[in-house]
Amino acid sequence: MARIAYVNGRYVAHRKAAVHVEDRGYQFADGVYEVIAVRAGRFIDAEPHLDRLDRSLGALRIATPMSRSALYHILHEVMYRNRIENGIVYLQVTRGVARRDHPFPAKAKTALVVTGSRKSPLDSRILETGVNAISVLDNRWKHCNIKSISLLPNVLAKQAAREADAYEAVFVDEEGFVTEGSSTNVWIVTSGGELLTRELDHGILAGVTRETVSKLAEHLRLAFAERRFTLEEARGAREAFVTSATSCVTPVVRIDEAIIGNGEPGSTARALFEAYARYMEGGDAAA
Ligand code: PMP
Repeated sequence: MARIAYVNGRYVAHRKAAVHVEDRGYQFADGVYEVIAVRAGRFIDAEPHLDRLDRSLGALRIATPMSRSALYHILHEVMYRNRIENGIVYLQVTRGVARRDHPFPAKAKTALVVTGSRKSPLDSRILETGVNAISVLDNRWKHCNIKSISLLPNVLAKQAAREADAYEAVFVDEEGFVTEGSSTNVWIVTSGGELLTRELDHGILAGVTRETVSKLAEHLRLAFAERRFTLEEARGAREAFVTSATSCVTPVVRIDEAIIGNGEPGSTARALFEAYARYMEGGDAAA
């Protein structure tokens, strides 16, 4: 089946989908994006993703491309036209096409691209093995709360992870604190049994999955706090895991050379993986 993409008002064959060479996303990375998971033909947490899109657009003073209901219509069309039962929809919004010049153009129409892809849901076999991570210096800009398409440091970090046979690269700031993963939020269970994820600030993206998993942790009555932790604390942690719309809850069993806990996914990561899986199925998250 041929994939279909939405590009600035039209549904086109994915292989022919293109934007203008002077789209400011292409020229300046002057745009933002969202990734929304689809499970069993339903969007997961679409509202908070679209709220975050509005915040990112607002922070960059890019005009919203259309009303939320019009946007939902396109998201559904892309889901249906690509027959996505399980997968993702990807939305990218840029400041539009204008003659190349750094300042905001006087007249440019916000550009919108939406694509979809099928992907099988996260496999619970991940609970048997977990994944490895490496640490890298966080050399990004100071507005990581904006979901900008300017992802070069994230790309380089993820590539370093792949070359080290690792799933994720964990960014560490100059003071030694973990910020987040190259495309995930990072969590640990300390040796004292406390579940931690960094508090929200401009150093990290406010992950939608992070927010949902925080609520699940509260339902499960876990000792949970939003507080920054160092790479050393993470390496010495009882458990570690990462969250995102596509990684859901993925246990981390090694960071660099340090084995986390006993080298297997821990009970907290398992419990949250299962609670999140139920949440995605639309079941009772607290059950
Ligand atoms: N941090 C970064 C840098 C990311 O790219 C992502 C995924 N887009 C996340 C965190 C997780 O965000 P979410 O749970 O909304 O997918």
